[in-house]
Amino acid sequence: MATARKKKSVQTTKIQKKGVSFDRAAFEAKLGTPKKVEAWGMNHFSLSPVFYPKSEEDFRDVFAYARATGAKLSFRGGGCSYGDAATNEKGIIIDIKDFNRILSFDQKTGVLKAESGATIKQLWEFGVEKGFWPPVVSGTMFPTLGGALSMNIHGKNNFAVGPIGDHIQEFTFLTVDGKEHVANPKKNPDLFYSAISGFGMLGAFLTVTIRMKKIHAGKMRVWPVNTFNLQEMFDYFEKEYKHSDYLVGWVDAFASGKQLGRGQIHKAVHLKAGEDPDFPENCKIENQILPSTFLGLIPKSWMWIFMYPFSNKFGMRFVNFGKWISGFLNNNKPYMQGHAEYAFLLDYVPNWKFMYKPGAMIQYQSFLPKENAVRGFEELLKAGQKKGIVTWLAVFKKHRPDKFLLTHALDGYSMAMDFPMTKGNKEKLWELAKEMDEIVLKYGGKFYFAKDSTLRPEILNRAFPKKSLDKFRSLKKKLDPVNLLESDLYRRIWK
Ligand SMILES: Cc1cc2nc3c(=O)[nH]c(=O)nc-3n(C[C@H](O)[C@H](O)[C@H](O)COP(=O)(O)OP(=O)(O)OC[C@H]3O[C@@H](n4cnc5c(N)ncnc54)[C@H](O)[C@@H]3O)c2cc1C
Repeated sequence: MATARKKKSVQTTKIQKKGVSFDRAAFEAKLGTPKKVEAWGMNHFSLSPVFYPKSEEDFRDVFAYARATGAKLSFRGGGCSYGDAATNEKGIIIDIKDFNRILSFDQKTGVLKAESGATIKQLWEFGVEKGFWPPVVSGTMFPTLGGALSMNIHGKNNFAVGPIGDHIQEFTFLTVDGKEHVANPKKNPDLFYSAISGFGMLGAFLTVTIRMKKIHAGKMRVWPVNTFNLQEMFDYFEKEYKHSDYLVGWVDAFASGKQLGRGQIHKAVHLKAGEDPDFPENCKIENQILPSTFLGLIPKSWMWIFMYPFSNKFGMRFVNFGKWISGFLNNNKPYMQGHAEYAFLLDYVPNWKFMYKPGAMIQYQSFLPKENAVRGFEELLKAGQKKGIVTWLAVFKKHRPDKFLLTHALDGYSMAMDFPMTKGNKEKLWELAKEMDEIVLKYGGKFYFAKDSTLRPEILNRAFPKKSLDKFRSLKKKLDPVNLLESDLYRRIWK
């Protein structure tokens, strides 16, 4: 490969990479013209040249190119971060979607090794028929392992099993100087606990070794429970979490007064070996995948069009109320549900975010300590109502602290709030976010980079422990001394 490159590069600038001549012009040709790279919430984009590595050698090439030219680099996995974590207005996007092979799997232990572009979808589809499920999944199945580790994602089981980082046995990692590192909790613990949660700013995850969870059924037992206000929801979580594998609460943010924060909880519990009469049939992928049509008629990808007439504050008030009221029909009656259906409810309606068009959306997810959760989130809900910008979808989860450097989790709760963003309301929405930041800080809370669009350096410095921020800064200086890795998010919140 090196010889072929040497031949081609006779008339082009050569870059020394590990003593091998590297053809800059050929590399630039691979980048092509800049493309529109969009935040998942459609609230931000960059026009960036995009590079698609297929091998570790390709990562080395793009790093060598950046070292020689000073080009700024930012990684992109599935592009599922709501804000500007995977866009780069000042440089190149490294899109890892083609670097996605599953490399090995141990049927006895469930330990799986894959390239960092492998998605959660690939993992569960690979594992489920063998009796294994990813230990932590997000509300959508499209994030990659690289994206999931960079943000250290949590699932609806965060209170019980911690974030994805707690299930990583080891990873290999390439820093911009071209050095490859192996990290696990014992070997290179600093790198292990910082790169996981390090939002792609320390180097590239190459391969990831993860422990999958053993399952004994294709379905779980699920309880839907309607609650009349946030305190009730909180009390249910506190009472039930020791008896639950997953807990998630949906909140009707339009309700006020005594019913402020009313909603519906879905608690799920894994079945034990022998409890599922349809095992292993239920585990077959065709029995897990979400149907592509609604009622066997309407393609799911069209459903957002039917929902579109409701995409305004009156429609959303009605939809939220309707969902809550309909919850009483089967209140507290357990039913069985497939893993994928429970875990990836949002994927059930593909393109649902298009409901926000021609505008966009932002998600504001904050985390509050247990003692202040009800009071704090009630204040956030009231702040939106007072400002006239009510979240269309609010989701409540329970968390536990973890050891990762820039962790968003704590011993408490989070509420993820989806807000419509339009040209007309952007200024007001950002004002609301500022007000909410102060409420979150007043109650000792934190934020999550994967969901963020509005955070400012001042707030970051107040929300995260100084010790952690200083440690991250010094690692960044050591591993990426001239800041070749910079995303739009990094420039917004760290500078
Ligand atoms: C509908 C929906 C539901 C969601 N639900 C949840 C949830 O329940 N829990 C939760 O925690 N999150 C949730 N998320 C957020 C999502 O899990 C995170 O944003 C995750 O990081 C996305 O992964 P990705 O592969 O799409 O990465 P991207 O969004 O493309 O990138 C995220 C970060 O990863 C970095 N990165 C990507 N690849 C690499 C690599 N190889 N090496 C180093 N850095 C890399 C990028 O630099 C960037 O900073 C949800 C998102 C959506 C859209």
